[in-house]
Amino acid sequence: MKGLAAGKPGEALLFDFPQPEFNDGDLMVKPLACGICSTDVKMVNRGSGGNIEYALGHEVAAEIVEVSETEKRWEVGQKVVAVPYLPCGVCYYCQHSQPTLCKNLFSVFLEPGGLAELVKIPREIASRGTFIIPDDMPVDIAALAEPFGCVIKGIEDVGLKTGDSVLIVGDGPMGAIAAAVSSYYGANMVMVAGLTPHRLAVVDQYFADVVIDVTKSDLQAEVNEYTHGRGADIVLSAVSSAEALTSAIECVRPGGRVNAFAGVEDGTIISLDLKKLHYQQYHMTGSFGVGPEHLFKALDMFASGKVDVAPVISAHFPFAQAVDAIAYARDRVGLKAMVNF
Ligand SMILES: [Zn+2]
Ligand SMILES: [Zn+2]
Repeated sequence: MKGLAAGKPGEALLFDFPQPEFNDGDLMVKPLACGICSTDVKMVNRGSGGNIEYALGHEVAAEIVEVSETEKRWEVGQKVVAVPYLPCGVCYYCQHSQPTLCKNLFSVFLEPGGLAELVKIPREIASRGTFIIPDDMPVDIAALAEPFGCVIKGIEDVGLKTGDSVLIVGDGPMGAIAAAVSSYYGANMVMVAGLTPHRLAVVDQYFADVVIDVTKSDLQAEVNEYTHGRGADIVLSAVSSAEALTSAIECVRPGGRVNAFAGVEDGTIISLDLKKLHYQQYHMTGSFGVGPEHLFKALDMFASGKVDVAPVISAHFPFAQAVDAIAYARDRVGLKAMVNF
């Protein structure tokens, strides 16, 4: 069976994977839709090191095609989403409600990955990290539960409260999703800063109250103008760079909160004005990953109908052309690329 894999650095290819081995309690699923994430692009850029073990893709909505004979909870034909990895539930971090710090987080995972013709959801994920897609929810929308879940976790981590002003630095898919989630969580004013005019236009139309093109205007001055000179209550950096986080910090109000949400390369360092940190008493956090509860909340959010999530998807690719979907994401052509099977 085929799966999309990272090959030589910069190369994505459809690779022949062995069919995953089915064990008691597992679910075998046939993907219906799988989103492309910047992590997939990062893995392609890095390359597989000559040994292809995993398929790309972790934002997957799928149909169950095989269950154990003893299975009571699941049936063939049900449509589901699943977490890509699973907190163990019993370690120190899990017991402190910090699931993505779990030391056993990657001990089980979807095999070989979401962008494959067949995927095994191992028993542990089937029992604690798999959720039914509501009947009337399109599978493309359900496949967004993972990236929305990551953002929901990020927004919860940074403590967004009803009425807050929010600045999101970044106009990519995660920036757009962060704007949507901020509104859903009760933000009074959602500002998105970026430097890609066609992305900002979509974000402006569907997700943000205000967009700021940082190639044309001074970010801090604009944010101050929209926030009575104070700066934003909440700032979330959704760009993988030190510069983005530095400008995010410049735009937070005294006592506000900053989330270093985007993953960055090893050794990415910023310099911090400690006097400002001390006197202006702002808070900083980072956020990584998603737990089952966040995926569940994302599905609930979609089902509420309160957020128009469909415009996050800007292009569809058939699985046979999944390589092109990676190029689309890498070249920042639109927002989210969705692969359909
Ligand atoms: Zn992702
Ligand atoms: Zn744990």
